[in-house]
Formats: sequence, structure tokens, C-alpha cells
Amino acid sequence: MPTTAATKPSPLEALGVGPVNSGASTGRRLDTKGPELASVNPSTGEAIAKVRQATRADYETVAAEAARAFEAWRMTPAPRRGEIVRQLGEELRRDKDALGRLVSLEAGKILSEGLGEVQEMIDVCDFAVGLSRQLYGLTMHSERALHRMYEQWHPLGPIGIVTAFNFPVAVWAWNAAIAAVCGDTMIWKPSSKTPLTAVAVQSICDRVSERNGVSGVFNLVIGRGADVGEAMLADRRIPLVSATGSCRMGRRIAQVVGERLGRTLLELGGNNAVIVLDDADLDLALRAVLFGAVGTAGQRCTTTRRLILEKGIAKEFTGRLLKAYGQIRIGDPLDEGTLMGPLIDGDAVKEMMAALETVKKEGGRILCGGRTVDRPGFFVEPTIVRAEKDLAIAKDETFAPILYVYEVNDLDEAIALHNDVPQGLSSSIFTTNLISSETFLSHRGSDCGIANVNIGTSGAEIGGAFGGEKETGGGRESGSDSWKLYMRRQTNTVNWGKDLPLAQGVKFDL
Ligand code: NAD
Repeated sequence: MPTTAATKPSPLEALGVGPVNSGASTGRRLDTKGPELASVNPSTGEAIAKVRQATRADYETVAAEAARAFEAWRMTPAPRRGEIVRQLGEELRRDKDALGRLVSLEAGKILSEGLGEVQEMIDVCDFAVGLSRQLYGLTMHSERALHRMYEQWHPLGPIGIVTAFNFPVAVWAWNAAIAAVCGDTMIWKPSSKTPLTAVAVQSICDRVSERNGVSGVFNLVIGRGADVGEAMLADRRIPLVSATGSCRMGRRIAQVVGERLGRTLLELGGNNAVIVLDDADLDLALRAVLFGAVGTAGQRCTTTRRLILEKGIAKEFTGRLLKAYGQIRIGDPLDEGTLMGPLIDGDAVKEMMAALETVKKEGGRILCGGRTVDRPGFFVEPTIVRAEKDLAIAKDETFAPILYVYEVNDLDEAIALHNDVPQGLSSSIFTTNLISSETFLSHRGSDCGIANVNIGTSGAEIGGAFGGEKETGGGRESGSDSWKLYMRRQTNTVNWGKDLPLAQGVKFDL
């Protein structure tokens, strides 16, 4: 029977997500006994479905299985591991529409962004498949005759992956696809605000794993940070915890994992700025700032939070921006034409309103927005604040659509202001002057992990290494050579001669 709108399954049905779901899986769902957790649709404030959370005992079961599975997975040839990731990418292609809709339903991002997130998962799977035949080590010339020296990369172990609500599936894939081809097994602890997308992705992994006769490579625990999160941080079987979230969470993870001298890969908060110089293409800059500041309702780590305008264009550009903000269509993220959905929950709305109170106390001027929207769910107006350099609240990352606008006299002043925040994730400049753009990209320019020219701060491609400096945590995920963080490097020296010369000419003969 052809599928009609009336018979089309909901994204939940299509992905095998039930009314109450287990919050732990090792390839088969565990019979978890923890408290129920409701996933709330931020567009209505109503529960979508529930998850029974994993307990510490469930964590133990999952971690033991991940450690057991590592023994076999690390011995599986990397291209064979890549083949399984290729199949994962194929399943994601098949389920793209349903999973993208579920992301929109649960996280509140507009549908094209929900679908874009799944596309990002597919892209990183493709990248990882190629990588599975390119886990190269270097060879070096030894200073000793008849010696060969080289390095090789070995799988690291079962790793922990902690993800934030705002990229509920893509960030898992950045880690998981790469870790899997590197020979690591993994335990995913997603945000408790987006458990259903995690259940759905795990089901896809379980399907692919079963078909290939593997288990325990992709594992899931949904539970409280204080229970399963802390258990993972303290677990000496887990050599690496890759964590995405707030700087506060990152400090805790760095402390606990660092205490046992484990490795962390931290992707934390951003406070990203766009500089627009007098010679910029203002049409381009306007579109980029709009998407950067308002997209995902200001809930991207790479959201444009500060706009630094050179004085010659400041008035005109602010005027055009205000006009554009007036045309933003706020509403149900699944409706075609909506540009901005809700914030994730009531706490996020309160935090935005509290930040705007502080703005007023500190002398900032709200130019537009600043209120909640009178409808069910967690909707707010995108907000522009006229800021002076000493506005302290602008140095914090408020995870909401607040854009602070500054005016500066020249490029040097713009760069100084740009770098004067604790975070260092993404940055961009709009200019048609080569010297200005190269200055921005030079050692004395942007201090961020990502620096762009004539494109905005958000919407990175998976092929580059993604991450930031300073309080953003220094981690790099996804493309380029980020894979090295998921493996251990071994330097090997082989003597194929009949003497035993020591390095640096040291003599030690009897
Ligand atoms: P959050 O810090 O509240 O939570 C992130 C994750 O950490 C969640 O899964 C949470 O359960 C977990 N967690 C918290 N305490 C823990 C503990 N003690 N042990 C183990 N896990 C623990 O962040 P959020 O509100 O979900 O996401 C928004 C934040 O994430 C923003 O600051 C944003 O900038 C950041 N983020 C950064 C990147 C990046 O790549 N740099 C990407 C996306 C989001």
C-alpha cells in the first residue's frame, strides 16, 4: 500500500522508539531499573516518550561488555571496521528523514537543521571509512647504523563519549565513527534532555552490529551525570573521555579524569564574534550574522554572540540587522518556513531572562527582542543588545539568542576586543581587504580554534578538525588528524645489525 500522509509512521515508530525505552544497551537493550525520565518536546512543553534510566549497576554491565568487546574489536582489521561504519552510514541515509524529524521534535531545531545533523553523521561515516585505510604512522631515519625507527598507532581502549543536548546525534557521530575505525569500543552518555534520539541511534547501531556478528562496540547509558556520568569519569578501564558541553562540566571532567591521569578531549563553550570592517560586503555579512546569531535559537557552541562593527558601517549595518530580526519567523520547528524554534527548556528561558536583567544593570541597551513569546513551549524573541567594552555579562556564554553589538575604530581595536573573552572556539571577519583578512588569520589575529573569512562562525564542515582554545578546552574532533586522539602512539626501533650501539654515542661496555 503506498504511504500517504495519514498512514506515514511518526519518526518514533519509524525508528523503533516506544513509549518507554531502556536507557542502556550493549547491542541488546538491558532491562534497566532506574527512574523514568520523560523527554519533553520544547515546542509544547509536553512529554514525547520516556526512558528508564541506567543505574550504576547497569553502567558496570555496559562497561564490562565494552572492555570485553575491545579485545576482539582491536584485532579486527581497520578496513573491516571501516566496512561496518560504512554500513552504519548507509542505515543513516535510509533513516535520515525520520531521525532528522526526531532531532527537531526533541531538540527543537528547525527541520532543515535536524536533517543537516543527520547528514553530518553520514558525512563523518564516509570520512571514517576512507580513514580506516589511512591510519598512517611516520618512519624516521635512525642515528644508529642498521636500525629502523618508526611509529605506529594502536587502538586505545573502550572510550567514554559525553554529549550535549544541542547536537544530540552529530557530535556522537564525530566521535563514534572515528573511534570505531581506530579500533576503540565506546560508551555513550548523551544529554538527559535528548534521550530519544540516543535510543534511536543506538537501535541503528544495534541493527548494523547484529548483522555483522559484533556486539559491545557501540554502547549506551542514559542516566544522571551524578550516577553513570561520574562512574565513567572514575573508571580506569576508560583511557579517554571525550566530552562536549559547558565549561563547568568540562572543569569537572578534567579534574576527575586528570586525577587518575586519564585522557580527556574537551569541546566546551564558545563566545564567538564576527568582525565587520568598513570595506566588507554587507549583504554577505548580514546573512551570515543572521544565521550565526539566530540559527538553532542561539543554542550552538558556534553561535555568533558578539558583533564587532567598524564605525563607518556600524549604523547602517545595525539598522539592516534590526529590520531583518523583525522578519524572523518563530514557531514550530517542524513547520516549513519557521526560522527559529524554542529554547530547550524552562531553565534556559530563565537563564536568558536573568542575563538580560544583568545587561540592563550593567548599562547595556536592548535594541530589540528581550521577551518570551506568549505560546506553549519555551519560545523567546531573538535579542540584540548595544554593548560597551566593559559589559561583563557579554564575556559569559548565555546559551540563548542574545547578540551583543559593539562599535570600534579600526582592525586592531576589533581584534583586541574579539580576543578579550575566556572562550576561544569560532571567529570570523568580513572584509574585502587582503591585509586585514591575513592579519586576522595571523599569530596576532584571532585566538580561536576556528577562524573564517567572509563566512560566519557556525556551520563547520566535518573534514576539518573541530574545536577551540582557552576555556573551550583545546580538544579537536571530527576531521583532519583528530583521529590520533583516539589511538595510542608507539615508537618502535628495530636493530637488524650485530652490534648494540647506544643513542647519543653513550658507551656502556664491560
Ligand atoms: P552541559 O554541560 O549541561 O551537559 C553536557 C553533558 O555533560 C550532558 O550529557 C550532561 O549530562 C553531562 N554531564 C554533566 N555533568 C557531568 C558529570 N559530572 N559527569 C559526566 N557527565 C556530565 O551542556 P548542555 O547544556 O547539554 O550543552 C550546552 C553546552 O555545550 C554549551 O556550553 C555549548 O557551547 C557546549 N557545546 C560545545 C560544543 C563544542 O564542540 N565545543 C558543541 C556543542 C555544545
